[in-house]
Amino acid sequence: TKFVYAFSEGSKDQKDLLGGKGANLAEMANLGLPVPPGFIISTEACRAYLAEGREPDALAAEVAEHLAALEKTMGKALGQPDDPLLVSVRSGAKFSMPGMMETVLNIGLNDESVHGLAARAGDERFAYDSYRRLLTMFGKTVLGMEGHLFEDEMDARKAQRGSTSDLDLTAEDYRELVTTYQRLIKEHTGAEFPQDPREQLDLAVRAVFDSWNTERAVLYRRQERIPSDLGTAVSVVAMVFGNVGQDSGTGVAFTRDPASGAQGVYGDYLQNAQGEDVVAGIRNTVPLADLERIDKPAYDDLMRIMETLEGHYQDLCDIEFTVERGKLWMLQTRIGKRTAEAAFRIATQLVDQGLIDMDEAVRRVNGAQLAQLMFPRFDSDAERTLLATGMNASPGAAVGKAVFDSTTAVEWAERGHDVILVRRETNPDDLKGMVAAKGILTSRGGKTSHAAVVARGMGRTCVCGADALDVDVKNKRFTSLDGVRVEEGDVISIDGTTGEVFAGEVPVVDSLVVRHFEGDETAEGDELVLAVERVMAHADESRRLGVRANADTPEDAARARRFGAQGIGLCRTEHMFLGDRKALVEHLIIAESEQEQEEALSALLPLQRSDFIGILEAMDGLPVTIRLIDPPLHEFLPDYTDLSVQVAMEDDHDRRDSKHHKLLDAVRRLHEQNPMLGLRGVRLGIVIPGLFKMQARAILEATAERKKAGGDPQPEIMIPLVAAVQELELVKADIVQVAAAVEDETGVDLDFKVGTMIELPRAVMAAGEIAEAAEFFSFGTNDLTQMTWGFSRDDVEASFFGRYLEKGIFGVSPFETLDRDGVGQLVRIAVERGRATRPDLHLGVCGEHGGDPDSIHFFDDAGLDYVSCSPFRVPVARLEAGRATS
Ligand code: PEP
Ligand code: MG
Repeated sequence: TKFVYAFSEGSKDQKDLLGGKGANLAEMANLGLPVPPGFIISTEACRAYLAEGREPDALAAEVAEHLAALEKTMGKALGQPDDPLLVSVRSGAKFSMPGMMETVLNIGLNDESVHGLAARAGDERFAYDSYRRLLTMFGKTVLGMEGHLFEDEMDARKAQRGSTSDLDLTAEDYRELVTTYQRLIKEHTGAEFPQDPREQLDLAVRAVFDSWNTERAVLYRRQERIPSDLGTAVSVVAMVFGNVGQDSGTGVAFTRDPASGAQGVYGDYLQNAQGEDVVAGIRNTVPLADLERIDKPAYDDLMRIMETLEGHYQDLCDIEFTVERGKLWMLQTRIGKRTAEAAFRIATQLVDQGLIDMDEAVRRVNGAQLAQLMFPRFDSDAERTLLATGMNASPGAAVGKAVFDSTTAVEWAERGHDVILVRRETNPDDLKGMVAAKGILTSRGGKTSHAAVVARGMGRTCVCGADALDVDVKNKRFTSLDGVRVEEGDVISIDGTTGEVFAGEVPVVDSLVVRHFEGDETAEGDELVLAVERVMAHADESRRLGVRANADTPEDAARARRFGAQGIGLCRTEHMFLGDRKALVEHLIIAESEQEQEEALSALLPLQRSDFIGILEAMDGLPVTIRLIDPPLHEFLPDYTDLSVQVAMEDDHDRRDSKHHKLLDAVRRLHEQNPMLGLRGVRLGIVIPGLFKMQARAILEATAERKKAGGDPQPEIMIPLVAAVQELELVKADIVQVAAAVEDETGVDLDFKVGTMIELPRAVMAAGEIAEAAEFFSFGTNDLTQMTWGFSRDDVEASFFGRYLEKGIFGVSPFETLDRDGVGQLVRIAVERGRATRPDLHLGVCGEHGGDPDSIHFFDDAGLDYVSCSPFRVPVARLEAGRATS
């Protein structure tokens, strides 16, 4: 294997091998853009290192060869005493993991070459500034020292100068810092800082490899569902210097606004600084537009290059660049992260510019982004106290108690509180707190700061750079310009769409996109709504899968229909037995004679009938799959302990006949060790046939009534938890009998289907036979997952899934995203066997997976006819079904 690649050997399509950063550096170099020369150590080298615990044998020689070529190009050797070549060593995995892994700049400086650098640049301050930066980064990254050791010394120096800015430090200050840092390194590691440039390089490369497995990197990958075995590439690039004076600097730029998608000049620039300074928020940056005034030629170059990049990548790019004495250098580019709103707007803008077609536009957005746009926002008419306006770094409306450190954020969130993490700025160690918080608020740093980038990636609401707020992390409070003080635990509201920060709780309102889906005309004409509408229209045109909703009330059914549902895929009738009706179910359960049972059922019948009339009316003309009662009956009975107490308190002589006593008897009688495997689903229909018959009658009478009223009801009666065709046949015979009776009584011809859920592995294996009795299958993937893995769906996620995720047994809970390799295979078998028996067998899915993007793509591939999900997920499912075919 080859481990090291020249830029000329790479391209943007090689992210697996060269990492995102390396692949795009190669791409830019090959486009003829000004990229400093360098080479890339592949992810393969990293994987080999992580597997073996040491660098592969061939690596050292390959690095030497590419280093020699680099030295030849540059006309100087790494660390050459009179004129040193310096290099940067940067991590870069296939997927961007902002700030999670390591970087070391200025490699090649030592006690000798620092003089050479000073002499060549004619600037001693610059040379020692660069050296102290190397010592800091090397100390932290390679030697594992605490960053504050270095920062404290730096702060002390600034204090001596009576300044808070590094710009006021002199060459002398930096020279002394270098001496101090070398002493600190000796003290903390017992060894001198290595003077040999090649040794520096090798150690830095190794540190980047190791940083793949730091705690924060592992956590970030889990959060972002990035596989843990990819490894990182390492780019080794000749240094260019943004810290050689005021005619130099470093910056970050976006080709469009990553928050709104608007075209324009977006980014931050920092004069006389090196890369890390921008992201770390050391000094306040100026808006990129100011570069035009500071250095017009460099600005014009940058604008030209940004246009080239956007045209080439046909997408929003983000860029890191450096200006060294007026000369522009590109250090990095990639397809930029963006907010959900920007994703939709950019996709349609690019279509209008003729850069992409609508199929591609549909691929450029995703269901998670659409779901984000459906979040509520703050009510702008509500009274609110504005504390400050920062930058709108990541949209959404978040309300919570202010906390000032990650540990508290995690603890309070675990106790069930909504929290807003407030920091001066965040760093990668804050990740846990950011995950736990509803929103993130910082007083420093721009839209490219760590807080902003990470929050956008996670879809967390974030306001950053609210510099009117004086954040006092030590004393856990912040103060606004007007002197309003917010202490830990005080509620605040932050608006990531506008950047506003409010005291107290601001009420929230529905999103514009939801209002549009709901048919609210005042939402029309909004640019975002138009973009969403265009994308959705194309997704609907392209998709093969139908989308239905899981709904149990006429209101939900109507909303689902407004959201684009093409019917109901699951109406859970047990949800109709709650509230006041619980008493009727109790009567049914404790009935002591057939007559009492009949009475209880007759009382339920009209209630059920009116439920179904409402739902069939809301979905008139569309199929409505109604599932007969599924859960074990004891779920409708009172709690055992409560009942026991009540019975114990009753007089002896009342006891035997009391309702409580009978209920307690029933609870004891119906108690099951494993209720999910007990008397539920079709088994109830066989043990208490009257129950299913009553439900079937209610459905069919409702159908007759709707037909008489001129409607077009399309009921589908669905039997849950079937394992054998005999079960289905028994129940179906009852239904057919009831139907004949209802037709007789009403004089209405009834059209309806009878089908089954596929929720048990046995049903999958027997699907060929079951299809003889079933006109449709609906995969109950919740139970099918439970029964296939043997995971109790109500318990395991809270119990041991954390461990399973950590160990990589799966990357995401199989209850959330369909387990393609196991449960998915069962789905495929059932599809194949079912259709072999009945070619026109209609197939759907109604488990939670029906609304999960990844699972939807699988169901499309498996050839199902539709997915069914909660009404709010319906637009998401429509979009993902469209993406599955686009
Ligand atoms: C299922 O098991 O996937 C299903 C839809 O039924 P329920 O969740 O009601 O058990
Ligand atoms: Mg089920």
